Amino acid sequence: MSKFDTDLFVIGAGSGGVRAARIASGHGARVMVAEESRIGGTCVIRGCVPKKLLVYASRFPHAFEDAVGFGFSEVKPDFSWERLRDRVEAEVTRLSGLYRKGLESSAVAIREERAVICGPHEVRLASGETVSAGTILIATGGRPSRQGSVIGAELAIVSDDVFHLPRLPRRMIILGAGYIALEFASVFSGLGTKVDLVHRGDAVLRGFDEDLRKNAAHALAARNVKFHFARSFVKIEALADGARRVHLQNGETLDGEVVLIATGRLPNTEGLGLGHAGVALGDKGQVKVDAQSRSNVASIYAIGDVTDRLQLTPVAIREGHAFADSVFGNKPWTVDHTTVPSAVFITPEIGTVGLTQAAACERHAAVDVYVADFRPMLATLSGRDERTFMKLLVDAQTDKVLGLHICGEGAAEMVQLAAIAIKMDATKTDFDRTIALHPTAAEEIVTMKAPVARLRREH
Ligand code: NDP
Repeated sequence: MSKFDTDLFVIGAGSGGVRAARIASGHGARVMVAEESRIGGTCVIRGCVPKKLLVYASRFPHAFEDAVGFGFSEVKPDFSWERLRDRVEAEVTRLSGLYRKGLESSAVAIREERAVICGPHEVRLASGETVSAGTILIATGGRPSRQGSVIGAELAIVSDDVFHLPRLPRRMIILGAGYIALEFASVFSGLGTKVDLVHRGDAVLRGFDEDLRKNAAHALAARNVKFHFARSFVKIEALADGARRVHLQNGETLDGEVVLIATGRLPNTEGLGLGHAGVALGDKGQVKVDAQSRSNVASIYAIGDVTDRLQLTPVAIREGHAFADSVFGNKPWTVDHTTVPSAVFITPEIGTVGLTQAAACERHAAVDVYVADFRPMLATLSGRDERTFMKLLVDAQTDKVLGLHICGEGAAEMVQLAAIAIKMDATKTDFDRTIALHPTAAEEIVTMKAPVARLRREH
């Protein structure tokens, strides 16, 4: 019998923590998990899941408009934000319940309270209970950062608050041009809100392929998102009618009912007692870990957003699974953080996997660029001015596909499947010998004939 109260203590019942707890328990470990908020974490409670439901909602107005081109009469449907918000909340509650059941059925002990670390093998709960653990796993995720905050920043909301807005704002001002800023700009403009997006740079989605960045901005502008590039907030003030006024550094002002700050997320390590245990943190406050997700303290591991590797739910889940198999299942393995597909759920959406063109050219001497840019079939009858853009990057020396970047309807679904082939080191020849499935947008991926550019390093 172990000298500890539990074999594994997991702090944080989000996607990564829950996976790690259940798998470790399956390997025979005694597991306890603490959660100070709601079971399910960011993804389920205030992130991916409720966001995607709002994305679906935001697409209906376009579908109603498009239907006219297919012979339907024009409809002006009523929309209730309150009904949508409450239905999304009900679904979130259902999923949180499923996560709880999953933990219970795996015999994981749940403590719904804050836990802090008091030492390499000790955790103290808010109730005062102290638990000793052979291993501690930090899976506390992240939180919106409010970087770029200014005078009156408390008058703004962050992404967590979006799901509880009392009513649909008529005007909204968003700061930032990353995943979250763009997704909510798209959602709210789709639902009829007038959106102003303020960004310090001159292009959206830093780090993405340049052509995708352009396509994303173009697609959002076509859906009435107004961009204010090379601008920053100076002050937010409350107006007499409850609205907000944002003062920009160039003297312009923007008014709206809601101001959303979406300037990144920070690891949730504040006040966690990591100093007591001697756990080393990085400059953003992230837990520094090795490939096995182990911190500098041998008994303390960390997975997911709190480690600031790739802030994506499936990555956290993988890291949790690898941790549990390695530490409790005698089956060590590590997560491969390369060629991870991701999507930005604007409308039309972005799906991307592999190297951007800039990265491909940096790492490979000869890169061929294949592009398809076309009007999707749906838009022919709907009359909507929408395009689908696809880019395939190929190593000209080995024929290996290095990256795929799509902006268009269904991009995320297409990229998830193509990512399997790319992960398997598929070549352009493999793509070409795959017969097209017609008529689809995805068939363009296997019918790209000649490169639009052959990029060669000069030396
Ligand atoms: P991102 O890092 O994607 O974007 C942050 C944005 O804020 C950038 O445009 C950045 O500008 C800007 N910014 C940062 N600091 C400041 C500042 N001090 N003043 C003004 N602007 C600033 O963060 P998000 O919050 O959008 O998302 C966090 C993470 O969550 C993402 O990186 C992603 O991993 C994950 N996520 C994934 C989703 C998905 O998979 N669909 C959806 C939502 C989130 P600049 O470009 O100049 O740095």
